[in-house]
Amino acid sequence: MKKNLALVWRRIPQRYRLIGSLCESCNEKFFPKRHFCPKCRRKGKIKDFQFSGKGSVYSYTKVSVAPEGYESMAPYYLAIVKLDEGPLLLAQIVDCEDDEIHIGAKVRKAFRIMNKDGKEGVINYGFKFIIDN
Ligand SMILES: [Zn+2]
Repeated sequence: MKKNLALVWRRIPQRYRLIGSLCESCNEKFFPKRHFCPKCRRKGKIKDFQFSGKGSVYSYTKVSVAPEGYESMAPYYLAIVKLDEGPLLLAQIVDCEDDEIHIGAKVRKAFRIMNKDGKEGVINYGFKFIIDN
């Protein structure tokens, strides 16, 4: 299992480190990474951008029946997080009570191990966030 996790890390490091892109021409930020800006096209100057990992809950759902590899986590929350810098991403909200999560709740990225037992590539939520009171 350690081997699988290492493999995932190597393949898509920017996803785990929350590195996206910044267009220096129009200041638009993108996640995941883009190689060109849809607004500026060829005029855009794209460079790597490290997101802060802070954001807010844009929408969420409670997952009661978890897929294979996640059974021990259920129930848990899956949310669309709007990063403070703008982009939206899908994340699991961990260590969260029912009354803590709501649309607009402040969250920040947590550093947690992904699914320990699930097969690589089945379902990978990528990020875990915690409520940031
Ligand atoms: Zn641009």
